[in-house]
Amino acid sequence: MNIQKLIRPNIRSLKAYEAKEIPCRVKLDANESPYGFPEGLRALKSIKTNRYPDPEAKALKRLISRDFGVKSQNILQGNGSDELIYYLITTFGGPVLYPVPTFSMYGIIAQAIGEKKIGIPLNKEFDLDLKRILEAIKRQKPKVIFLSSPNNPTGNCFSSEKLLKIIESTLSLSIVVVDEAYQPFSSRKGFLPLLKDYKNLVIMRTLSKIGLAGLRVGFLIADKEIIHEVNKVRLPFNVNSLSQTVATELLKKRKTMQSYINVIISEREKLFNELEKIDGINPYPSEANFILFKVKNADKLYKGLLKKSVLVRNMRGVVNGCLRVTVGTNEENRIFLRALKEIITDEKT
Ligand SMILES: *Cc1c(COP(=O)(O)O)cnc(C)c1O
Repeated sequence: MNIQKLIRPNIRSLKAYEAKEIPCRVKLDANESPYGFPEGLRALKSIKTNRYPDPEAKALKRLISRDFGVKSQNILQGNGSDELIYYLITTFGGPVLYPVPTFSMYGIIAQAIGEKKIGIPLNKEFDLDLKRILEAIKRQKPKVIFLSSPNNPTGNCFSSEKLLKIIESTLSLSIVVVDEAYQPFSSRKGFLPLLKDYKNLVIMRTLSKIGLAGLRVGFLIADKEIIHEVNKVRLPFNVNSLSQTVATELLKKRKTMQSYINVIISEREKLFNELEKIDGINPYPSEANFILFKVKNADKLYKGLLKKSVLVRNMRGVVNGCLRVTVGTNEENRIFLRALKEIITDEKT
């Protein structure tokens, strides 16, 4: 029997998200935080494993509500923001528009659901190509627009004026999702203050990049009507008890959390300066917890680093000739830089 014939065509042609586990000593490939939160696990003792989790994640939402100055009715919890991308496209449908390159899950999920994808290339500065985006909005009427700012994998924030123009020009036409996964590391203002002015704006956040990637907790902040509608497609117990509990503990420790973020920001600046000094390496400025850099022979350098047990992300096919390195601890960054310099020196001799 031919199973392939039974698969929907959009799934048959879909390529699964590449998330391979590659053993290494220094793991700088997935934009995780180098700092975990083991203290948070203590609270797990009180969990009743025989009971379903709180379907509304009340305790978690209360803290998000405090931190972001919004009401619980403006928050929707997700099993990571990946799940929320699924819910948004399920709720509003397509076409789905996003710039390229960006986070790959927007396109993968749009295709999985069977919606049309519209990818608009970024300009040379990795900023939004406003003219082309506005044209595409007019012609193709996307229902959902995803804008990751700071953007993954380029690291920059998009121009706020351009972003605002997109939000304004789609007021009763499309939902604009500003994915602020990396906002904690950014020096620019986020889009939260604009929520009250634009009903079609949705802010997406995650705890994955600030120490809880293993727990899968993300959330949307938006107008209550949007939250109400998207909540209809949410699976009842999408965030499990363990994740709700530890995430709540993490959010209670605002100062500790912020101090780790500050360390990562300062390490990013050091790492950027060191990369800039290396002949043949061109790093792009970053507002996130990773740095994209251009090199002469990306594949060779990637493999060379892996041989020295340092794992980064090869951006081949996404931003050709580039590698992306996550900011690690000071020690991890030094090991990475040393390995990089050794490989480049060996090449010359
Ligand atoms: C990592 C990342 C996410 C994924 O977040 P999860 O909450 O772990 O699903 C979302 N958006 C962007 C831009 C990312 O880089």
